Amino acid sequence: MGHTDDIRETMIDMMCNDDEFIQSIEIQTSNTKQMTLRFKKWMDVLEKTVSGSYPRTFSYDLKKQLFDRDSTCWICHNRIMAIEDAEVDHKDPYSKGGPTTIENAQLAHRYCNRHKSDKLA
Ligand SMILES: [Zn+2]
Repeated sequence: MGHTDDIRETMIDMMCNDDEFIQSIEIQTSNTKQMTLRFKKWMDVLEKTVSGSYPRTFSYDLKKQLFDRDSTCWICHNRIMAIEDAEVDHKDPYSKGGPTTIENAQLAHRYCNRHKSDKLA
């Protein structure tokens, strides 16, 4: 089972960041509607995780789309000259439940992305 880590991480993400999910846990479990909601939500996320609909890394195609649209580095705001020098970053961190979708993607220089904790500190 290569998905074990993903599933565990997804579960933790949901318990920390998904208000609806947290609420459904906090409310008394005898409430059938809440239990159903929790179960459905969890199954949905599980299915996406296992099927790879939410891969952790952005595809090259997605990177190219972003690059062709606007090749500005979100960290230093300078233009990225070559796609080889670009890296795609999650706006909402993956570890906090941010999806790997184009809406949640932003381009940065490889260098900037590596050192963003220094730059943004
Ligand atoms: Zn940059």
